[in-house]
Amino acid sequence: MLSLAQMLGNVSMANAQSLDDWAKSVTGVLRDAAIYHQAGNGFYRAQCDALGFDPAAINDINDLKDLPLLPVGMFKRPDAQVLLTCSLADVETETRSSGTRGVPSVARRNSETVTRALVGLIGTYREFFNLSGGAGLFLNPTDAEASEMGLLKDLNILNSVFDHHAYLVADQAFDAREALEHLRRWKGHMTRHIIGPPFLIYRLLRFLEQEKINIRLDPYSMIITLGGWKRHNAEAIPAEGFRERCRDLLGVRPGNVRDMYGMIESNMLAVECQLHRKHVPPWSYISIRDPGQIGTELPPGATGAIAVLDALSTSYPGFLLTDDVGEVETGTCGCGRTGQVINFRRRGPGSGLGNCPVSIERYLGSPALVQA
Ligand SMILES: [Zn+2]
Repeated sequence: MLSLAQMLGNVSMANAQSLDDWAKSVTGVLRDAAIYHQAGNGFYRAQCDALGFDPAAINDINDLKDLPLLPVGMFKRPDAQVLLTCSLADVETETRSSGTRGVPSVARRNSETVTRALVGLIGTYREFFNLSGGAGLFLNPTDAEASEMGLLKDLNILNSVFDHHAYLVADQAFDAREALEHLRRWKGHMTRHIIGPPFLIYRLLRFLEQEKINIRLDPYSMIITLGGWKRHNAEAIPAEGFRERCRDLLGVRPGNVRDMYGMIESNMLAVECQLHRKHVPPWSYISIRDPGQIGTELPPGATGAIAVLDALSTSYPGFLLTDDVGEVETGTCGCGRTGQVINFRRRGPGSGLGNCPVSIERYLGSPALVQA
């Protein structure tokens, strides 16, 4: 069984545990996290009390489904600081979504959480992408289109593994020619990689197609995507078709076109292996819920609401009910890694499925609970 420090220190080893060890390890780090938040967070303790749930009683992986969840919609509320386990003074970063859904989410992280998340991301990237050196062309959406500054941060951390990079901040007038110039300039000097949301990479692909430009990237070039199609859903093409276009128009092997799944409110980032299965990090656990009965966990393979349990966060409980829809499987992937793989289907309606047993209003209005 691995501790959180062991997982973060050796992501490869943590991905190669036996299934039995994986289950024990993820259960252990999530139990520790739940005990920490229950002890230090009155609001979370109120949820545990209302459900009669004692984190210390988590024995095995089947008990994780009973952890009280915070719906991500709560991060949009002006009184969202009630979710914090750390003090407001200890908050180092406020990650804000600025997307198409109106009120932004604010995810606050203290320095311990930021450090853990950065270490986890770098280890994950190194484990899945084997990147060392080369040049990264980042196609970044403008803030208004990014819908999540966290997305940009996640991508930009990739910089630490490249020798060279260029950012193109793209808006409606995405300058595909400029992107092309960078790729041509780096040719023969460095392995070239492209990173960005699929809708921007797709614009580059369409430009190449329309202009009948023939460009071949390098044998080990990668295309790494995160963030979906946003409000460009009308242009969206299936993942397999996207990879074929990358192969045909940029000469990148389909196995090297990798998508990732994450959200600003969570430190969990699931990254595709070469078989295009998105691996849940060893310090996180995904539970799929019945949309009609959110307390009920659905069996493996069933489609439902995605709940993310993450052990890295000490600023607030990382046990979240998202608005997203998908499935999860547990086992050993063809790539050799063990644990869970998630199949993300779509963003939900954003209606904020489910509520906490004790609402923020009730909690703030209840002196007994505040003192508890
Ligand atoms: Zn795999």
